[in-house]
Amino acid sequence: MDLGIKGKKALVCASSKGLGLGCARALAEAGVDLVMNARGAEALETAAAAIRAEFGVEVITVAADITTETGRAAVLEVAQGVDILVNNAGGPPPGLWSDWEREDFIRALDANMLTPIALIKALVPEMMARGWGRVVNITSQSVKAPIPALGLSNAARTGLTGYVAGTSRQVAGKGVTINNLLPGIHATDRATSLDKGVAEAQGISMEEAHARRCAGIPAGRYGTADEFGAACAFLCSQHAGFIVGQNILLDGGGVNATL
Ligand code: NAP
Repeated sequence: MDLGIKGKKALVCASSKGLGLGCARALAEAGVDLVMNARGAEALETAAAAIRAEFGVEVITVAADITTETGRAAVLEVAQGVDILVNNAGGPPPGLWSDWEREDFIRALDANMLTPIALIKALVPEMMARGWGRVVNITSQSVKAPIPALGLSNAARTGLTGYVAGTSRQVAGKGVTINNLLPGIHATDRATSLDKGVAEAQGISMEEAHARRCAGIPAGRYGTADEFGAACAFLCSQHAGFIVGQNILLDGGGVNATL
């Protein structure tokens, strides 16, 4: 399918690895020029070079922490005028509901709620002025079904979801859609580190931790970054202009719910 976005420009945050990289690759395959971002310059440059070589699109890189004001300023300096924004950042650490202090919540809110909101506020007005734009926020299945050890994520991402629900309906009339993609477990470094935590806490091997997690996923496996990226690219396509303010689970059926 021709996604109809060849020649558009996208900012994909936190995209040197994992789900962000999957989104960057899928957009590049559709002919979209990219601004890619991550904190570590080495992995970012490697990922960008591979995308340039494989898809022939322009890629600008900005090595910066997207959750900080200075990091966002550096990214926005080269990302003004993008047609597509993919919001992403690392997830908050696991823990126990009773242990988190105000500062832990502020960090999680900054990273997973206030950063995407700041980027939406910075970039969506120009999209509206041009009459076309796409925003996809990478959130989590924890928005639909809370994950006990990830209370910081449950809280921050649900806050973003509420903001998107209201905002998406105010900008849709100008041709700009905002939607959220909710990953269930995907085979990335993040999943490996979560499995490692489970393995250590329960005194089991990594293989056992992986197998136990797969047992709770009807598809019987972890998702891939390529699958995730393809869904993101579709939401950013010309064909997705009537999808507004939605929360789309990509979880292999893991969340057991009718709606
Ligand atoms: P990942 O494999 O660990 O990759 C994270 C990417 O984000 C890397 O490129 C990393 O590069 C970059 N990054 C992290 N923090 C950043 C920051 N502050 N500023 C700029 N770049 C940053 O993670 P993932 O699995 O793709 O997860 C992406 C998001 O989806 C996370 O928020 C995660 O919690 C959420 N999620 C993932 C899963 C899953 O199963 N994988 C499930 C539900 C939700 P640097 O470290 O060099 O910055």
